Amino acid sequence: MGRHKRGTLDGMWSMPRWQTLAAGALGAAADLVAPLVCAACHTWIPSGAGHLCSPCQTGLDRLVRLPHCTRCGRAARRESILEHGCAACDSESHWNVGNVSALGPYHEPLATIVRELKYRGDTRCAAILAGRMAERLRPEPWLATVDALVPVPMHWLRRLQRPCAHAAVLADALAKALRLPLLPLVTRVRYAPSQTHIPIRTRRFSNVADCFALAHPDAVRRVPRRDARSRGPVLCIVDNLLMSGATVHEVSRVLRAGGAGRVHLAVAARTRSDGDAAVAGLLAAEAHGTASASSSGCAPADQPDERFMR
Ligand SMILES: [Zn+2]
Ligand SMILES: [Zn+2]
Repeated sequence: MGRHKRGTLDGMWSMPRWQTLAAGALGAAADLVAPLVCAACHTWIPSGAGHLCSPCQTGLDRLVRLPHCTRCGRAARRESILEHGCAACDSESHWNVGNVSALGPYHEPLATIVRELKYRGDTRCAAILAGRMAERLRPEPWLATVDALVPVPMHWLRRLQRPCAHAAVLADALAKALRLPLLPLVTRVRYAPSQTHIPIRTRRFSNVADCFALAHPDAVRRVPRRDARSRGPVLCIVDNLLMSGATVHEVSRVLRAGGAGRVHLAVAARTRSDGDAAVAGLLAAEAHGTASASSSGCAPADQPDERFMR
């Protein structure tokens, strides 16, 4: 066993020059055989530059910096976000969840990153999303109370149509980043058409009604708790996209009926009914350091985004 530590600075300094040159040549050859491309726009990127090209990285940074409502997850103007919600969700009923953490609005390049994970199974996208979601979640005071993350389950028939169980893949990466347990406490017991194909918000709620059940009758009650005095375990649902909130409402209802003390939500992207134009207005307002851009702050209901419909 040699005394060089591979992958450490000490090891690199003590590595013979011929080995360093050989390693560099092999790395360059590997790039030629399998060139790296941006996970969002698929342009070539240099080795070691991460999973996104520079423009996509900058675009994602701008979306993540937008303020968002912690009750509904929508990106909005700063002054329209109040302590208990925003203008858009003020009249909406709650979805059985406490706090909502959304990485950003469903806008490019975040929208493509979400779709690449869902429809192509590109696990680099899960790594990108989970890393940024963890950064967003760590400062949240409520995260310290969370006992476990819970992925939104996928029906086995849907799983056959997808390259991966995308919510579970994302939740797994997020659980590792946050060092929290990932528990599949809920299963999908009824197949339903994709929510993205249902244009009317109220029908989305009826579409997923009774779709979920506990994986075991005592699944929630058996979750180890940080605070033994709490009414029940504190859980955080993880999903890739939040639209109407119907799916989250149902999953949370099942968890709470099973004994959860509190349920929160972490999602990668959040749709807005007024779409790209409104998000562009918010981005412009943030870029100019003013919250008084011409864009409307929020909208009352979210319609499906046609780009997400397959
Ligand atoms: Zn790119
Ligand atoms: Zn809101």
